[in-house]
Amino acid sequence: MSPVAVILDGYVDEPACLGVPPYVSPYIRTVAGALIAHGYTVQYLTIDQLRLAPMRTVELNRADLLVMISGVTVPGKYLGGTPATLTEIQQIGHMVRGPKKLIGGPIGFGYAAEGGQKAIRQVISGFDALLTGEPAIALDNYLGGNVPAGALDYTLTDPWSISGSVIITQHPDYPYVMCELETARGCSHGASGGCSFCTEPFYGQPRYRSIEGIAAEVAALYTHGARHFRVGRQPDILAYGAGAGEYPAPRPDLLDKLFSSIRTSAPELKTLHIDNTNPATIARHEEKSREALRAIIRHHTSGDVAAFGMETADPSVIAANNLKAQPDEVFRAIEIVNEEGGMRRDNVPELLPGLNFVCGLAGETEKTYELNEQFLVRVREAGLSVRRVNIRQVMPFEGTPAYTNNTLGRHEQRFRTFKEFVRTKIDLPMLQRVFPIGTVLRDVRVEVTGDLSFGRQLGSYPILVGLPLQLLRNTITDAVVVDWGMRSITALPVPVKINTLPASAIRWLPGVGKKKVAAVIAKRPFAGIEAYRKVAGSSVIDSVMKY
Ligand code: SF4
Repeated sequence: MSPVAVILDGYVDEPACLGVPPYVSPYIRTVAGALIAHGYTVQYLTIDQLRLAPMRTVELNRADLLVMISGVTVPGKYLGGTPATLTEIQQIGHMVRGPKKLIGGPIGFGYAAEGGQKAIRQVISGFDALLTGEPAIALDNYLGGNVPAGALDYTLTDPWSISGSVIITQHPDYPYVMCELETARGCSHGASGGCSFCTEPFYGQPRYRSIEGIAAEVAALYTHGARHFRVGRQPDILAYGAGAGEYPAPRPDLLDKLFSSIRTSAPELKTLHIDNTNPATIARHEEKSREALRAIIRHHTSGDVAAFGMETADPSVIAANNLKAQPDEVFRAIEIVNEEGGMRRDNVPELLPGLNFVCGLAGETEKTYELNEQFLVRVREAGLSVRRVNIRQVMPFEGTPAYTNNTLGRHEQRFRTFKEFVRTKIDLPMLQRVFPIGTVLRDVRVEVTGDLSFGRQLGSYPILVGLPLQLLRNTITDAVVVDWGMRSITALPVPVKINTLPASAIRWLPGVGKKKVAAVIAKRPFAGIEAYRKVAGSSVIDSVMKY
């Protein structure tokens, strides 16, 4: 009988990689492939599954090898899972006694419980070895009797990504898993030291994965049932395959080939999205960037988001932290993505920018927050759309300049008022612009159940959808927007079955509200739209109602 290895997924979140459910990080798949290559039968377990059923520790004890992948180097809030805490990791290290225990991933850079706290690098007790560098390669070295360390080498990891792709079938969200695809590692802006707070320059100058390697992995994942993909493991998708230099010009020909190859490998895919995009690349290479964006839009699926690491609109903070783009460059990039991606398909914009702000950086003053607010008002007043504004406090890691030079704790009150400003003055109008009432969102997956259920589409930064109904987890439904929150929308499943809709949901119908709920209920069943309109009037969602 072959030895058994368990991969325990404590989840990862890095500036250029997400592995919190429904996302599955590339690390999990390549580690699975390396284990298979060494003759192991591989089992997969998430930290959330272990929290829900601690008795599953017995399974871990029975295994021959435990490989935990974990580490968060950017603060985030998650609906689909909660990354392993340092305490949990250490408990696992001490409580699991049977197998050899290895741990790898960005946890090697350090650990902080949340944004605004310094990440402490420390020995993780209870484990036999820390996999240093690329987890799959370090694991391969360990299993070969060598030091458990190793740098990324796509010639080794590409075959493992194919053989390890089968692991997704064991994911608790399967088949609704989002496969994070790696196209590059390391950041070209690192040539000048990189942004003060970022861990991506730890990976060195960019190395690009071959289109053939990526396409072969997608084909393998597709064979195992994957239908949702995000080309997200890279600092700047527009720089894929670009030449040397800090801000290389995009290669639209390569991006077209990359995305068309993914399509060919996964012909019936349902989601193909992107993530990080450097606004400085767009502002400095406008025409090539437009061509590159068009290439992506030709092959992706709509509702896509190009996340801009803006961080601040304050030139002093930009200078003090070697940040990549000036506010005017970011503004120009927002305009260009709106021009190229603002048209709608399947009811939602093809591609919109997202903005990330980081607070607590060196050089920050009260004025920084004013400049941030003024910038966002400028975007709003220009009629531009931004899919989301993400505000975080820096999580400084040892080895980055922000570790010793930051302003954490100095503007707490202003940080809070800035967040509140963005929620009320920017997020709400942007949601109203991007998801007007009556918009039908396709394939919303229910993730949280209750009187008010919550779901999302699978995608890059999907909007949180509140559904005022009890729905089963993993229900997939189209949903029509009926109201907006600050960071979410309220929607009803389509078709809206007016004659059986619960009272709690009827109040959300446009034109009904709390006042007319009783009248609508009293007049049910309605024979058709005309009868309904006599009570509630006409509305933009009439076409999706059923009687
Ligand atoms: S541009 Fe800055 S934030 Fe983006 S990956 Fe490079 S160093 Fe990190």
